[in-house]
Amino acid sequence: MDFDFSPRARELQDRMRSFMDQHVYPGEPVYDQQLAAADDPHALPPVMRELKEKARAEGLWNLFMSHGDWGAGLSNLEYAPLAEIAGRSIIGPEVFNCSAPDTGNMELLALYGTPEQRDRWLRPLLEARIRSCFAMTEPDVASSDPRNLRTRITRDGDAYVVNGRKWYTSGILDPDCALIILMGVSDPDAPAYRQQSMLLVPRDTPGITVLRDLPMFGYTDRLGHGDVQFTDVRVPAANLLGAQGEGFALAQGRLGPGRMHYAMRAVGFAERALELMCRRVLAREAFGGPLADQGVVREWIAHSRIEVEQLRLLVLKSAWLMDTVGNAAARTEVAAIKVAALQVAHRVVDRAVQAHGAAGVSDDTVLARLFAITRALRIADGPDEVHLRTVARRELAKYKEEAA
Ligand SMILES: Cc1cc2nc3c(=O)[nH]c(=O)nc-3n(C[C@H](O)[C@H](O)[C@H](O)COP(=O)(O)OP(=O)(O)OC[C@H]3O[C@@H](n4cnc5c(N)ncnc54)[C@H](O)[C@@H]3O)c2cc1C
Repeated sequence: MDFDFSPRARELQDRMRSFMDQHVYPGEPVYDQQLAAADDPHALPPVMRELKEKARAEGLWNLFMSHGDWGAGLSNLEYAPLAEIAGRSIIGPEVFNCSAPDTGNMELLALYGTPEQRDRWLRPLLEARIRSCFAMTEPDVASSDPRNLRTRITRDGDAYVVNGRKWYTSGILDPDCALIILMGVSDPDAPAYRQQSMLLVPRDTPGITVLRDLPMFGYTDRLGHGDVQFTDVRVPAANLLGAQGEGFALAQGRLGPGRMHYAMRAVGFAERALELMCRRVLAREAFGGPLADQGVVREWIAHSRIEVEQLRLLVLKSAWLMDTVGNAAARTEVAAIKVAALQVAHRVVDRAVQAHGAAGVSDDTVLARLFAITRALRIADGPDEVHLRTVARRELAKYKEEAA
C-alpha cells in the first residue's frame, strides 16, 4: 500500500485548508442567519453563491470528478483527504461543488450519459447553474432491496411514462433543482436485477407533485427531502440513462466512489467534533478543575482519536484499492467503510455532545446537527445491515469450499 500523496494533492490540501479557514468557517454563521431570515427554508443563502464563486476562481472546484475530461482527474486516493477537509463543515462540500446528491449524479452522467445528455445536464451541474436529485426509495416498499421497487416506467411510442411514489428524494426542493434521476421498473418480467431502468426527468415536467417536505429528526434540510408523486410523467425516450434494464447496474456504479466520499466527509465530521470537544473541556471547569482533567473525559478523547485514525486508514486503503484494482475488487472495503465511517463519526459526535452538557443539544454549536446527520446517514445510501451483509458474505465465501 502506498499512501504517499502526489505534490499536486498535497498542494490542493494546503489550499483547501486555508480556504476553509479564510472563507468557509466564517461563512457558517452567515449562512445560518441568511437561511433563518429567508421566507423559503430551501432558498440558497446569498453567501453560498459568493463562496462558490470564490472556490471556483481558486480552482477548488469539481475536485471529486475523476474523469479527466470533466473535472480535476484526481485519483480516489488524492481526492479522499480533500473530501475530509470539506466535510469538516456542513456547508463545505457544496461550496466546492462536491456535494451529494449532485456528485453521484454527475458521475452517472459522465459514465453513462450520451453526448446530448451530458451537454444538457452534466455541463450545467459542473458549473453549479442547476442542481439535481436522485429518486429511488419508495415509502410503500422496503427499498434497501431495489427488487421491491414499484414505480413503473412504461414505454409509449417515442416516450416513457412514469407512475409511482418516491420519498426522501433529497434536493428536490432546492429552487435550483432542474433534474431528477429516477429509478423505476421498466421490465417487470425480466430477471430480478434486469427489471429496473434510470430515467432523466426534467424537474418541471407536468405530473410531478411534491406532497410534503420530510424532516430529518425534526430538522428541515435546506435541500429538502421530498415525498413525491409521479402521475403520467412523460419524457422523451432519449432521456433513458444507459440501456433499458440496466438501472441496477448503473446504481451500483454510482455508489462506489460515492461511498468513499461519504466516508471521508464522516472523518471530517468526527475531526470537527473531536476538536470542539477538546476546546470545550479545556475551557470548562467543574469539581475543582477543567473537565479535561477527568479520566473519563480523557478516555473519550483518546478513544475518539484512535477510532478516527483507524477509520481514516481503512478509507484510504479502500480508495487506494479502487484506484489500483477497481471498484468491483474493492467491494468488501467499500461496504465496510460505509458502516465504519458513520458509526465512528456518530460515536465521536455523541461524546462531544456529552462533553458540552446542555450546550451540546442546543443549536449554539454544530454538534446537535451532526448528531442527527451521522445517525440518519447510517440509513441513507443503504442501511448498515445491508453493507454488513456484503462484508459477511464475502468473508464466508473464503471458507465455503472447505465446508462443502
Ligand atoms: C436523510 C436521508 C436522505 C435520503 N436521501 C435519499 C435520496 O436522495 N434518494 C433516495 O432514493 N433515497 C434516499 N434516502 C432513503 C434511503 O436510501 C433508504 O431509507 C434506505 O435505502 C433504506 O430503505 P428503507 O427506508 O425503505 O428501509 P427498509 O428497506 O424498509 O429497511 C428498514 C430496516 O431494515 C433493516 N434491514 C434491511 N435490510 C436488511 C438485511 N438484509 N438484514 C438485516 N436488516 C435489514 C435495516 O435496519 C433497515 O434500516 C434517504 C434517507 C435518509 C434518512
